[in-house]
Amino acid sequence: MLEKIDHLGVAVKNLDAVLAFYTEKLMLACDGEEIVPEQKVRVAFLPIGTTTIELLESTAPDGPVAKFIDQKGEGIHHVAIRVANIEEALASLKAKGVRLIDEKPRIGAHGAKIAFIHPKESNGVLIELCEKCK
Ligand code: ZN
Repeated sequence: MLEKIDHLGVAVKNLDAVLAFYTEKLMLACDGEEIVPEQKVRVAFLPIGTTTIELLESTAPDGPVAKFIDQKGEGIHHVAIRVANIEEALASLKAKGVRLIDEKPRIGAHGAKIAFIHPKESNGVLIELCEKCK
């Protein structure tokens, strides 16, 4: 059911400044940026091997990433796991009594269907399930 680590989401205050470290020092290539209005974030994608680092900058002071940084500071925000069928994955977890932030998928970057598991279930790690549309 769980296929791979699709991406790591990293919360940053200033995307352009942080991007320079990843591209100029770590020599990763940025393969695009996207604004995801539903999540109030601007995202930059840095593929690495079969996974991707996603840098997340909040576009609003009340966005989830801004709130995360207020509480915990910058750093790893979530681990995203690719699933083949997100509705099935959510139904299966719900049946096992797992607390979910999203009982129904919403739309994330690249039009993927995403849903978050409550971080209390995984000892503080925010896990995102994502199903790619392609
Ligand atoms: Zn994500």
